[in-house]
Amino acid sequence: MADFNLNILGCGSALPTTRHLATSQVVDLRDKLYMIDCGEGTQVQMRNMRIKFSRLNHIFISHLHGDHCFGLPGLLSTLGMLGRTGDLVIHAPKEIENYMRPVLDTFCKGMPYEVRFNHIDTYSHSLIMEDRSLSVYSIPLKHRIPTCGFLFAEKPKEAHIIREMTDFYQVPVKWMKDIKQGKDYITPEGEIIPNSRLTRPSVAPKRYAYCSDTAYSPSIIPIIEGVDLLYHEATFMESDKARAKETFHSTARQAAEIALKAGVKRLVIGHYSARYEDLAVLHKEAREIYPDTILGNEGMVLSI
Ligand SMILES: [Zn+2]
Ligand SMILES: [Zn+2]
Repeated sequence: MADFNLNILGCGSALPTTRHLATSQVVDLRDKLYMIDCGEGTQVQMRNMRIKFSRLNHIFISHLHGDHCFGLPGLLSTLGMLGRTGDLVIHAPKEIENYMRPVLDTFCKGMPYEVRFNHIDTYSHSLIMEDRSLSVYSIPLKHRIPTCGFLFAEKPKEAHIIREMTDFYQVPVKWMKDIKQGKDYITPEGEIIPNSRLTRPSVAPKRYAYCSDTAYSPSIIPIIEGVDLLYHEATFMESDKARAKETFHSTARQAAEIALKAGVKRLVIGHYSARYEDLAVLHKEAREIYPDTILGNEGMVLSI
């Protein structure tokens, strides 16, 4: 498996079915885990997929509809029972506090770790979080309540040193850090050795965009342009377009149109309405517009 992966834990929508679980995903970047949404049943699905609870430090909640956050109380309580001590940060619209503060006060008193909330402005495209390897940005979406998607952008990796060349020019060890970051080497005699002679570029950083729940919204296209993987909700079929419009959701065709217009590398769809027994119809509809569409499913792991 690659070192930047997407785990799909659940890709159903609001009504429970025996076929799908409520929305949750886990982005895994070199063993650091970032959860997106936490529908009911998420912690059980983490067990099923052997996702390590201890590697999770950030949870991103797109909006305060139950199918995206009813799994939080159980998960937070379990993390306490497992003896977690490090802070856990929940990035979410500010309404999260009305929901989670009473839960924490009632069920999570005396937990060995701290839950911190980072309020997201769902109306702006801005940086929410960054660490050494990743930046996460909000993507404003069009839904019935304040909602945003998330853009996970890997930071550029350092260039690889060509050992034979640094040996040849007798580059001192103290220079190596600067050279990995792109600086030229200046010899004690003042000769400039260009960086391109000393390093090989690392692989280009990857990006993943998560867009759920949302009505058809072309304004997100400039934000997600060219991403390596796009998850876009496809709650309905085009024949149920009126229902999609009324509930601020998208059809499979609309998801594919967004992918096509944004020139993304791959599209994965999900958040299926309970009314469709056979998802092949949604898949076919999306593929007619965007052939490289993946039908998201529980337990799926995609490399980004
Ligand atoms: Zn939903
Ligand atoms: Zn919703």
